[in-house]
Amino acid sequence: MNGSIKTYQMVINGKLVNSCEDDWINVENPAKKTIFARVPRGKAADVNIAVAAAKKAFTTWSKTSAPDRGKLLYAIADGLEKIKEQLAQTISTENGNALRTQSRAEVNVTVDIVRYVAGLAREIKGSTSYLNAGTLDYTRREPYGVVGAIVPWNAPLMLAALKILPAVMTGNTIVLKASEEAPLAVLELARVCNEHLPPGVVNVLTGSGIECGAPLVEHKDVPKISFTGSTAVGKSILVAASARVAAVTLELGGKSAQVVFPDVDLDYTAESVITAMRFTRQGQSCTAGSRMFVHESISEKFLDKLVSKLKNIKVGDPLDEASDAGSLVNAKQFARVTNYIREAIDSNKGTLLVGGLPPESGPLSEGYFVQPTVFLNLPQEVRMTHEEVFGPVLSVSTWKHESDVIERANDSDYGLAAFIWSRAGAPAIRMAHALDAGWIQINQGGGQQLGHSYGGFKQSGAGREFSIEGMLDSFTDTKQISVNLGDAGFPQL
Ligand code: NAD
Repeated sequence: MNGSIKTYQMVINGKLVNSCEDDWINVENPAKKTIFARVPRGKAADVNIAVAAAKKAFTTWSKTSAPDRGKLLYAIADGLEKIKEQLAQTISTENGNALRTQSRAEVNVTVDIVRYVAGLAREIKGSTSYLNAGTLDYTRREPYGVVGAIVPWNAPLMLAALKILPAVMTGNTIVLKASEEAPLAVLELARVCNEHLPPGVVNVLTGSGIECGAPLVEHKDVPKISFTGSTAVGKSILVAASARVAAVTLELGGKSAQVVFPDVDLDYTAESVITAMRFTRQGQSCTAGSRMFVHESISEKFLDKLVSKLKNIKVGDPLDEASDAGSLVNAKQFARVTNYIREAIDSNKGTLLVGGLPPESGPLSEGYFVQPTVFLNLPQEVRMTHEEVFGPVLSVSTWKHESDVIERANDSDYGLAAFIWSRAGAPAIRMAHALDAGWIQINQGGGQQLGHSYGGFKQSGAGREFSIEGMLDSFTDTKQISVNLGDAGFPQL
């Protein structure tokens, strides 16, 4: 193997290991189209070893007091804090996200997540009820045992932290499969976790979805599956888990609507719509507001502003401090996104306002770069108007009546997020109540906070993992205990 290619190992039972078959998957730097690392190609045999280690570790970890578990999590946060810049550079190199605008923020949020979850360890509480004077009735939140988790590549560290930390905080142990497209920062997270936790509590595997993810989902000793990824794979996971009635949480895809009212501040809203569309993450976000409805009375002026702002976004080397946006993650995603763009252009319907097919020469042709792209008034039969592109591609149409735009915004299989732009409070709030989505923002494009609820309506997901309630509901099972106290008419024991 070429010396410039760095070898990473999986983390199983507290040890760094190769796969049983000593087989490997190459990791590409998508901004340069070069292989720079390799990770083990884990398969069913590796899954079996990791699940057995997690199952064994569960017997003592689940009995460790919650405050003690919390203390160990705080130590993990401190450990991550020390390698923040290294983690951010790793993410940018493996998935193409711009270091300045994306990866550093992702690492900062990850450290915050770990601290937030560490504090929640003291909040694992049940309830009591008073149904009979002669009984003590209470509930306990019990950990499931071994949690099987699977994550995608677009915010790999943050999404892995959102599974690992809540799972172990609540007393479970975990086997997580990282995405084969961006496994490196997740392996680093696993390494730091294992500096502080007993062996077997956190295990991280690398491998493909079919070879490594599927055996994890099907494993008889994994009673809970937590999956983040595409809706298509999420559906297959639901089917596999149903065979043994495993508990499942799904965080899936989206095609989120943005509705722009006629009274908005054009400048602020054009800037914020760019954030909502995640253009500086190349649109590779599940919550990207990729279907925009602009009121017809302002559409021309508003779209002029939007286009001129998009032309100022500097797309380039993710590690370059000057770059606002980086590259798409891989050749497959590049082909997929350019196909959507080509299909829209070839339809000869609608107008391409900015961007378009990627350059075939020059520095941007050296990686999987696609410029921010906006189409106006494509008809519904053009796929990008209603399918998740997962690229920097926004489809815009105009609206006149509130009832009509609500119907069109809700005409989607997805229901992850929505963004409403208006200076008038009541119409915006009315619309927020009418839209079918799990996370709705008014007059802001980012702004997610730990503690918020987050998750999808319709085919965008099932269950919630964000916020204290989401974490506790997702990673614990409730047990009712009823004790006959032997008085108030109950027979003495
Ligand atoms: P993907 O569904 O292709 O893969 C996600 C993970 O599942 C990967 O680790 C992959 O190896 C694994 N996998 C694939 N096939 C599998 C199988 N048959 N069994 C078990 N595991 C399998 O998604 P992706 O391309 O990695 O990520 C992009 C998708 O993720 C988008 O649809 C995006 O909207 C979604 N996403 C959702 C959220 C959310 O919070 N709702 C967050 C980020 C990304």
